Amino acid sequence: MVDLAGLELKELEDFVESLGHRRFHAKQLYRWIWKRGVTDFAQMTNLGRDLRAALGTAATVSTPEVVRRDVSEDGTQKFVLRMADGRQIESVFIPDTPAQTFCVSTQVGCAMGCAFCLTGRMGLVRNLSAAEITAQVRLLARTLDLLDKSFNIVLMGMGEPLHNYDATMKALRMLNEPVGLALHPKRITLSTVGLVPMMDKLAQEPLMPNLAVSLHAATEETRGAIVPLNRKYSMQDVIDACKRFPLAKRRRIMFEYVMLAGVNDSNEDARKLVKVLAGVKAKVNLLPLNAAAGIPFERPDDARVNEFAKILVDRGLMVSVRKSRGRDIRAACGQLIVEGQGRQSAAQRLAAEL
Ligand code: SAH
Ligand code: SF4
Repeated sequence: MVDLAGLELKELEDFVESLGHRRFHAKQLYRWIWKRGVTDFAQMTNLGRDLRAALGTAATVSTPEVVRRDVSEDGTQKFVLRMADGRQIESVFIPDTPAQTFCVSTQVGCAMGCAFCLTGRMGLVRNLSAAEITAQVRLLARTLDLLDKSFNIVLMGMGEPLHNYDATMKALRMLNEPVGLALHPKRITLSTVGLVPMMDKLAQEPLMPNLAVSLHAATEETRGAIVPLNRKYSMQDVIDACKRFPLAKRRRIMFEYVMLAGVNDSNEDARKLVKVLAGVKAKVNLLPLNAAAGIPFERPDDARVNEFAKILVDRGLMVSVRKSRGRDIRAACGQLIVEGQGRQSAAQRLAAEL
């Protein structure tokens, strides 16, 4: 069985041809799957009976199962999805920000181990395929009746997208496909913790999403303490990669900065951050920590966040403070974790041995 959920249009054309049918039917098929959210070949009424029968025996369209759906007081919705191998991921719908936004995962867990992030606690379980990345969009849009509406996508769910580069890029091409959802790359934001070689590779791509970079500190020392990857690619390496990153007119790189009380939230940090970002077309997005059990940091109070923001604004930076949407359902940034499927904890290992 060929899984059509993971095929780009040109691959689907080859497949349709291999079944002995004309290539143009692939466009109809792609439209059914991606624009209408239909996965049952029997319902694809403009395809001939022969083709539908051939598809029925040779192909499937895999779609994860929604095992849980939580709705926050603020309208944010968190979906827990189970994939074919039983692994689970989370995807989040954030309404009216001002557009509708889907926050999508690229990996089960994450290898990067940032000190304040629950997903990092899981370690990397596995990469998602392009089928699994795009299916989150298809499934959420269909469930929420948004297939015909415009929406944005942020690759800010579980995982580090540039650590699963090929599948992520294929997913972007599939979402961009004009006969499908035709999502413009301007509507997609890729967030990375700073895998410098992959940032340079991204800079060569014909389909360029908006770039967000998780900076989180204004000195190498502080960044090294909370972002382990900083020991491999220093903050300065990341900033240099940003400086050579090609940006369309009026575009900026968004620098995410998780604010941790007493760690990176002083006025001095704010002034250093201004210097670090000098010469970069930047905007700063401050993310006051979303606390969670097992995360050894605290969220600064609003007055601290505002004073920090004011220093940046007074020195000419564009700044926004991210609202923590969906905190009551643990859907906010850094709170995505699917219990019980990460690497075994020492306690679990011990229990298994006994
Ligand atoms: N791996 C990518 C994208 C996913 S994380 C990255 O790190 O950029 C999306 C954003 O949520 C990142 O900026 C991340 O640093 C932030 N984040 C992680 N844990 C958080 C927490 N506990 N509170 C607030 N933001 C957090
Ligand atoms: Fe991975 Fe991003 Fe979490 Fe860091 S913040 S552990 S890179 S998901």
